[in-house]
Amino acid sequence: MEQLAIFGGTPVREQPLGYGKQWIEEDDIQAVAEVLRNGDLTCGPMIAAAEQKLCEVTGARYAVVVSNGTAALHLAAMAAGFGEGDEVIVSPITFAASANCVLYCGAKPVFADIDPETYNIDPAAIEKLVTPRTRGIVAVDYTGQAVRHREIGEICRRHGLVFIEDAAHAIGTRYCGQPVGSMADMTCFSFHPVKTVTSGEGGAVTTNDEGVYRRLLRLRAHGITRSREEMVHPTDALWYNEQVELGFNYRMTDIQAALLISQLGKLDRFAARRKEIVAKYDEALAEIPEVVLQREIPESDTVRHLYILRLRPERLLCDRRQFFDALRAENIYSQVHYLPVYWHSYYEKLGYGKGLCPNAEKLYEEIMSLPLFYGLTDGDVDDVIAAVKKVAAHYRR
Ligand SMILES: *Cc1c(COP(=O)(O)O)cnc(C)c1O
Repeated sequence: MEQLAIFGGTPVREQPLGYGKQWIEEDDIQAVAEVLRNGDLTCGPMIAAAEQKLCEVTGARYAVVVSNGTAALHLAAMAAGFGEGDEVIVSPITFAASANCVLYCGAKPVFADIDPETYNIDPAAIEKLVTPRTRGIVAVDYTGQAVRHREIGEICRRHGLVFIEDAAHAIGTRYCGQPVGSMADMTCFSFHPVKTVTSGEGGAVTTNDEGVYRRLLRLRAHGITRSREEMVHPTDALWYNEQVELGFNYRMTDIQAALLISQLGKLDRFAARRKEIVAKYDEALAEIPEVVLQREIPESDTVRHLYILRLRPERLLCDRRQFFDALRAENIYSQVHYLPVYWHSYYEKLGYGKGLCPNAEKLYEEIMSLPLFYGLTDGDVDDVIAAVKKVAAHYRR
């Protein structure tokens, strides 16, 4: 058998391949250059244009672009009214920001376990955690697969909860034909460079509720309003604006917005290529008995941000760490998404302990994310598959 690179054999690839990377084309660069040459750098017309484009893409009535996805989550949690004494149910397998936004508001994140096959938050687990203090849910479309909207929406209606969808992975995904961004009370997006479309840093909240929209706009800019109806001391003075609550500077620049508009125009093409790569991985990995594929619910037409390789430890002579390192030695640089949020030492200090969400904890021990981005060539994909096969064969039990 071919020797693994980790033991001195020849690696599958000469050059390292990371798990995610932006794809910038000449017209993206032109769009940014045009703003730099002739435009307003911030608070200009690109902001409303980007929001309009996001409404088209997501089918939402309103969109508010902000400086990053974490800011989007923070503003959504504030607009939801989360505060001291409230509980908010959150997915444990996600980036920390999905839960941190609850802490920013002084409320308590309560982690509901995932479905062991789809890896998304399990509505049955949510239901069991609802108490009189529960005010909302932050559900994450992990890897890009839509959460179970029907079930979660029903729980929210029954208990009067606010449904925030963290769709940082899921732009372009549809649930029963409806685009992500148009269904939850608020949907949050991120345009970080590893995500499907990028604005450098950037984020957005979409909603169909006009009141929520107005509040998000105000919170994005310090809590300051120019609308006389919102003022405590309204006046005709043209220069007058008034801070009516405590907000932030979470504005996106027009430079970023121009890039975002240009990238959103490519979403269909980006999505199609991601789907092609996912299909290739699925087909090849289905033949490797040492790994399992993520299950897709039929309602979700998924634009995948992450491709999860999940090991079956009972069939392998190595653990995830050894598999990850061996893959890396083959120059396939995977990443692990994610440590259960409450395993972070900060959450530990807040009193969260291991064992809260057994399905999430088991998943974490068995996964890594394979390279998935628009710029991967078919040859790159073949290299990844070859490396996974090689490492799996080496450690086969
Ligand atoms: C990327 C990401 C965020 C945060 O977005 P930023 O733009 O990096 O602040 C939040 N939640 C999830 C699930 C993410 O993947």
